[in-house]
Amino acid sequence: MTRMFDLTGRVALVTGGNGGIGLGMAKGLAACGARVVITGRDTAKNAAAMAELGPQAAAFPADLLDPAAPPKLVADVLALAGRLDILVNNAGTNIRKRPELVTDEEWATVLNTNLTSLMRLTRAAYPALKESGRGRVINIGSMLSIFGVPFSPAYGASKGAVVQYTKSLASAWAADGITANAILPGWIDTALTRGARKDVPTLHDSVLARTPAKRWGDPSDFAGIAAFLASDAAAFITGTAIPVDGGFSTQG
Ligand code: NDP
Repeated sequence: MTRMFDLTGRVALVTGGNGGIGLGMAKGLAACGARVVITGRDTAKNAAAMAELGPQAAAFPADLLDPAAPPKLVADVLALAGRLDILVNNAGTNIRKRPELVTDEEWATVLNTNLTSLMRLTRAAYPALKESGRGRVINIGSMLSIFGVPFSPAYGASKGAVVQYTKSLASAWAADGITANAILPGWIDTALTRGARKDVPTLHDSVLARTPAKRWGDPSDFAGIAAFLASDAAAFITGTAIPVDGGFSTQG
């Protein structure tokens, strides 16, 4: 039974794996035996995360806004580990502004970070994922893949598109043994939402009030879902968007 969750021998690349939700997922994958490679721009955060992930872990610094970064990352992982089985597209950013105030540059930063770089990396990873025979793509969406709020139009557009892109991948690559699923986090205590709570002082309590579990999520809440979706146990699950939100999305 436990063998269906065993990731021994598999190699995972986790973008934004140096902190927050990405590190939570990287820990879950490593705990099930995967060799985990993380990426992020901040080399100090990369080093600290590697120390937490153990001696098998590796990190490659990369700015995913650079179009050359995704193919280079895949090449680096293949040079290091010889294979790539699991791609976790988690890196993301938000610029909080009302729709009427968003500049072209801000729109491009958010869309390129959350959506276009995810597409570039997934496209570059395809041959290796196909070669794996049980390739896995795990994309991180958001509650804003489902809902709208007044202050995150570019973020909401990017995260909605991540879910639809995931369905395209699932449809196109199932015959290659590759599954593609999205995880939709609720409100999770990370650097990203610490910024939001500073900007919107009522946010902390309003999240608690609307979340049936009556707490903010923690990055460790993502270890299990990442390991499960990466495992043989989830071989027939593809094209889904799974909320990990303490029930937030059940409330009207
Ligand atoms: P963090 O800010 O902790 O993580 C964001 C990660 O993305 C960091 O590791 C950062 O690394 C990396 N990153 C950002 N921009 C780039 C870039 N240009 N190139 C490479 N790496 C980049 O926030 P979270 O853990 O909260 O966010 C992780 C994901 O979860 C995001 O996609 C976010 O949208 C999503 N999410 C989060 C929610 C929450 O409540 N926290 C709710 C819904 C979705 P570095 O700074 O080193 O580059």
